[in-house]
Amino acid sequence: MCAKGQGSLTPATTAQTRARRAVAVAGAGIGGLTAALTLAEKRFHVVLHEKAEALEEAGAGIQLSPNATRILIGLGLEQEVAARAVTPDGISIRNARSGREIVRIPLGAFAQAHYGAPYWIVHRADLQAALLAHVRAHPDIDLRLGSAYSDSIHPGMPLIGADGVWSRVRQQLFGGPPATFSGHVAWRGTLDAAALPRDIAPGSIALWLGQAAHLVVYPVRSGTLVNVVAIVEGQWEQQGWNAPGEAAEIAAAFDPRRWSGAARDLIGAIETWRKWALFSVSHTQWARGDVALIGDAAHAMLPFAAQGAAMAIEDAAVLADCLGQSPDDASGAFQRYALLRRSRIALVKRTTWQSGLIYHLPPPVSLARNLVMTLLGGERLLAQRDAIYRWRLTP
Ligand SMILES: Cc1cc2nc3c(=O)[nH]c(=O)nc-3n(C[C@H](O)[C@H](O)[C@H](O)COP(=O)(O)OP(=O)(O)OC[C@H]3O[C@@H](n4cnc5c(N)ncnc54)[C@H](O)[C@@H]3O)c2cc1C
Repeated sequence: MCAKGQGSLTPATTAQTRARRAVAVAGAGIGGLTAALTLAEKRFHVVLHEKAEALEEAGAGIQLSPNATRILIGLGLEQEVAARAVTPDGISIRNARSGREIVRIPLGAFAQAHYGAPYWIVHRADLQAALLAHVRAHPDIDLRLGSAYSDSIHPGMPLIGADGVWSRVRQQLFGGPPATFSGHVAWRGTLDAAALPRDIAPGSIALWLGQAAHLVVYPVRSGTLVNVVAIVEGQWEQQGWNAPGEAAEIAAAFDPRRWSGAARDLIGAIETWRKWALFSVSHTQWARGDVALIGDAAHAMLPFAAQGAAMAIEDAAVLADCLGQSPDDASGAFQRYALLRRSRIALVKRTTWQSGLIYHLPPPVSLARNLVMTLLGGERLLAQRDAIYRWRLTP
């Protein structure tokens, strides 16, 4: 995928015998951990800095589409992730007001056959634990927890900023913009799977479309736990991943005039809520000299197409491929990486924006949307994601 170039990188120390060059990564989220593995696979020595003392669960479930799962499988993570993931058999899209199914998008074996890789839903902590186990086991990765990246850490060593939506690397080294609040807040809670209302299939993703809000429900932790995510419009814009949310506040947002009993019962069944203000990043410069940005640090997007982590995983694979092709020219490799990712990220951001618009339509246009979805049917709706899900590093 990446063409070769020339130049020089800081050599790895003699103790790091397997590796040919050293690279620093700031941030050990999904993007940073994957980058460490993809780079180590290309025989780089990776110094991975994470500001947190311990990598703890932040967020609950995460949908991983085939474009991302095939990379994780390629890294040898299939066994660990699949052991805790659920392969949903489909997405049941529902009308918020009536609760009725509008259309059912097939996943499961259909997606596997169609895309050559599974569609998984996984607890974020399980994905992180699997990545972390491989990172810790790799002799060429030096994970430093409790070590916030600062400009002086590795002078002269190529740096990958994987430090998330509020990236210090983006803001300090690129003079990039701060993240922008979207006017949406995501609420999340978990339920024991046994508490799931009977009309919701336990092995599926349920998605309710309402006016200015939507609700997503799916199983995680081998199906023992159910993740509930409500996305509503609002002005609360605190940074961070784990603020407590008031049950009464989210229940009030699911007004009985607009939301069916089943959706409201689910909301009411959750005792502990966490909320995140949703931010995005519109910066378009992802490489400068021997510094590159990946994942949310580069292009954080809203979760409407469930592609943020998938793009961080793809970024990591492309970046390592480019650097692996020209290990002596980080600057050229990073420029090629940025160029290769431009149209891809633009496509996914467009899809995300369209999904947000379509999901939250008010009546009467929402009635037309529902009709179109029903007429198109699940397979054709899934096919609209082909360009995203079929992606692979080597076409
Ligand atoms: C409600 C919600 C639902 C979502 N659902 C999905 C989904 O279903 N599918 C999907 O693909 N995506 C989803 N996403 C998006 C996904 O969570 C993000 O895109 C993804 O986590 C980005 O990964 P990252 O590694 O770039 O950043 P992060 O996961 O934010 O990791 C950044 C890391 O950098 C560390 N860090 C920060 N500053 C520094 C520093 N100065 N030095 C060192 N370390 C630092 C942080 O502690 C953190 O560990 C969702 C997002 C939200 C909010």
